[in-house]
Amino acid sequence: MVELGLIDTEIERQVHQYLECETLLRRFFDAADFCYDNCLSQKESLFLRGFPGYLGCCISGILEGGLHAAEFVIKDIRIEKYGSPENKKDGCGYHTREQGCRLKDLKPPICIAYMCPPQKEHIKDEFGIDYNFEPVKRFLQDILEAKVDDAEMSVFKSRLESFIEKIENSG
Ligand code: SF4
Ligand code: SF4
Repeated sequence: MVELGLIDTEIERQVHQYLECETLLRRFFDAADFCYDNCLSQKESLFLRGFPGYLGCCISGILEGGLHAAEFVIKDIRIEKYGSPENKKDGCGYHTREQGCRLKDLKPPICIAYMCPPQKEHIKDEFGIDYNFEPVKRFLQDILEAKVDDAEMSVFKSRLESFIEKIENSG
């Protein structure tokens, strides 16, 4: 867990909720294990024709709202841990050819939640999971805006856990 130090306890709660959801979503994407074989190792990106596969969907700069206190905190911790994004013409400044995204956590909502249409179709066909990234992105944003209570967190986490379980039990 990231050490937050002396910040407001309500903001600290939001940051912890956010990082908890990020961890679960990372487990979900890792379990689905789709990106490397089907996109990142390919000559051409699945998402945009003409872009190299290794770039995947990380084609623009890192996107963040930056209007809420918890977002500033997350951004500060991210920069402290990973440095600032490089200034690049093509692809996100945190993307590298060797490692893909340099951020292992502390990403903005869109980067945590996004799933491209081919992967969405795969997850539906293979595991019967209907994943829509827009509401997930919105939920992450709502956490940062202090709009999520414990009951809503619990429902979100259970749903994600059931997705992960479904994939892990499918083999
Ligand atoms: S989400 Fe889709 S476009 Fe993005 S890296 Fe994965 S497979 Fe590629
Ligand atoms: S922060 Fe990472 S996931 Fe988000 S666009 Fe950049 S490289 Fe991609």
